[in-house]
Amino acid sequence: MTVREGSLEAPTRHPLDWLNPQFYDEAAALAEMERVFDICHGCRRCVSLCNSFPTLFDLVDESSTGEVDGVDKADYWKVVDQCYLCDVCYLTKCPYVPPHPWNLDFPHLMLRGKAIQFKQGTPTRFRDVQLASTDRNGKLAGIPVVVKAVNALSRNDTVRGLLDEHLGVHKDAWLPSFSADTFRKNLTPSKPHVIRDGQRTPGKVAIFSTCYVNYNEPGIGHDLVKVLDHNEIPFVIAEKEACCGMP
Ligand code: SF4
Ligand code: SF4
Repeated sequence: MTVREGSLEAPTRHPLDWLNPQFYDEAAALAEMERVFDICHGCRRCVSLCNSFPTLFDLVDESSTGEVDGVDKADYWKVVDQCYLCDVCYLTKCPYVPPHPWNLDFPHLMLRGKAIQFKQGTPTRFRDVQLASTDRNGKLAGIPVVVKAVNALSRNDTVRGLLDEHLGVHKDAWLPSFSADTFRKNLTPSKPHVIRDGQRTPGKVAIFSTCYVNYNEPGIGHDLVKVLDHNEIPFVIAEKEACCGMP
């Protein structure tokens, strides 16, 4: 039977089976990674999206066989480490996502790998928990009397050296500044524009601001609000926004 390329229909997202003990079975997860990595190796469409795919393809190309079977399974975790779960490969690129019979969901597989690592306790667990507590970090660093000191310290060579040594944050890595005037706190409410549904889209917007815009770049959110207002599109801010843990 020929298998045609997919992505002609909307993807079907199967829920993560995270309550099933099998979800945390390392051997089963590695076997699924081998299956998926082999499909990706033959496709390579996502090479430019993030560092997960180049990491995988370098591992394959430098292996003794030039195929996925030549890659040490211990190195699979290097691919997992590079995924920051943006979902772009699943949502925009991959033709093999469900309902395609290959049933490929790269981000969910990476998430499963991260869950296994987290449960097992990796050497970087402390660092990872701290850096992934984005909402908590933003709340603390954005306290008005604290924010200037945090921003100054994040540019101090001695502090950056300590961060590099103890948390593995490279001393030359760019770090965003924090703002005490968070987006959510200073949002100008929507004017009472009449909702005008478009041909294919509803004429109103719910803004999910993200921790980054809220604590680090509130100007982006305020600019978006101005664009919506200029186009007379009413908006609300998502009330139950919660941190996803992306640093
Ligand atoms: S979900 Fe992960 S693997 Fe996919 S594009 Fe985003 S970072 Fe890369
Ligand atoms: S996730 Fe899909 S589109 Fe991306 S490289 Fe793998 S098979 Fe290709």
